[in-house]
Amino acid sequence: MREDLPPSWDVAVVGAGAAGLFAAMLLARAGKRVAVLERNAESGKKLLQTGGGRCNLARDLPPREMADAFGVARRFVSPAFHAMPLSALRETLAEAGIGTKTMPDGGVYPASESAREVRDKLEEDAKRHGARFFFSRRVKSILLDNFKAASGVEPADGERIAARAVLLCGGGAARPATGSDGSLLGTVHASGIPTVPFRPALSPLPTRENRFFAIAGSSLADARLWVEGATKADGGTRGSLLFTKTGLSGPAALDLSAAVSQRVAETGGPAILRLRAEANADENIWRERLRAGGRTEGKTAVKNFLARTGLPKGFSEVLCAAAGVAGETAMAQLARTDAQRLAEALGGLPVTCDGPEGNGIAMLSRGGIAREAVDAKTMAVKAISGLYAAGEMLDADGPTGGYNLFWAFASAALAARSCARR
Ligand SMILES: Cc1cc2nc3c(=O)[nH]c(=O)nc-3n(C[C@H](O)[C@H](O)[C@H](O)COP(=O)(O)OP(=O)(O)OC[C@H]3O[C@@H](n4cnc5c(N)ncnc54)[C@H](O)[C@@H]3O)c2cc1C
Repeated sequence: MREDLPPSWDVAVVGAGAAGLFAAMLLARAGKRVAVLERNAESGKKLLQTGGGRCNLARDLPPREMADAFGVARRFVSPAFHAMPLSALRETLAEAGIGTKTMPDGGVYPASESAREVRDKLEEDAKRHGARFFFSRRVKSILLDNFKAASGVEPADGERIAARAVLLCGGGAARPATGSDGSLLGTVHASGIPTVPFRPALSPLPTRENRFFAIAGSSLADARLWVEGATKADGGTRGSLLFTKTGLSGPAALDLSAAVSQRVAETGGPAILRLRAEANADENIWRERLRAGGRTEGKTAVKNFLARTGLPKGFSEVLCAAAGVAGETAMAQLARTDAQRLAEALGGLPVTCDGPEGNGIAMLSRGGIAREAVDAKTMAVKAISGLYAAGEMLDADGPTGGYNLFWAFASAALAARSCARR
């Protein structure tokens, strides 16, 4: 049975995902009367899926390095990361009974490695301090006084809720079955606030070329991937790359997907990507290696020579085929023009992609409330007094590995602090 809402609150938090739960907890701890409105029958459905259920909360990096990973949004996320460095996140979580640990790769997880524990304990702590949760309440509009000040929200069931401040934590559009389907951004846009359409991010990249399909399951340990002609600010990615039955996945592909979405949307055509098999080895380095190989391993077949350098055997064959070189050719017999084509392919194999997999598969969205519409020092929406936003609803996205949850928590903490000061 649903509870009735009292007539007025200090803060109405819309959405009980990572950002909404964290903000509600901090606001309630600060003694504010907080109402959390969540469209689902429970909180944190997406949070439960994070890190394969283990919840990669953050990375063990200083704020500046965390911010740098957000590319063009680095200056926007920086104040939130400096206001809540990792040590502060850990303390805040510990107060809610959530211990944390750092894995050898720098990923920070709950000590229990349980996303469910994080979800449950954040909600419990918020409730213990007086926050009230109202589930199955989809907010359909933001109440505005003269289009200048937020005065509450209106759920789809029609009962208006008055609040001195409104904090939007409705998430992005990826995995709509979890409740964040992007529709709240439409509501924000209708209120006259500048927005950027959501596009899939952190999503696998299907390729037109079917050359990788035969080697599905094999991977490159440290590849580089970039969109041809990309700007430095939204440049390439580096990391492990997984070949799949449809194209490319793994961190290097997932982290590039937002840039690919953007390129495809801007040009209306496919994006040409370049795949470098070994991140630090460009065409020149490979040309030298092939030349030296011809001298020292003249009898070795080209494809075996490549495999000996550490590339997966199947991928070596794919590369030879892509460069038009017979893989059985002995290194000493490799013609100069063939060596040149092979070096070019190793330094940056062209791959054609019509865009990443859609929102049903993507793990994140690029887009949201426009950065210029929000004060990065307070998370306040500039044009409307009393309106704040946090988390994936804002146009800032980071790579895989804990960056995005950390952004959800840090931006929520900053927004909560600003709301509490009102
Ligand atoms: C499979 C998967 C794994 C991931 N793993 C990681 C990871 O390990 N580490 C990491 O850093 N990031 C990870 N992410 C990304 C991370 O989940 C998001 O960055 C994070 O959840 C964003 O938090 P949020 O609170 O902004 O949005 P959400 O968590 O999406 O929460 C938004 C909430 O708002 C509610 N809502 C939406 N509209 C309304 C409305 N109109 N009225 C009321 N309620 C509404 C939704 O139901 C939802 O509960 C992963 C994502 C996926 C899909």
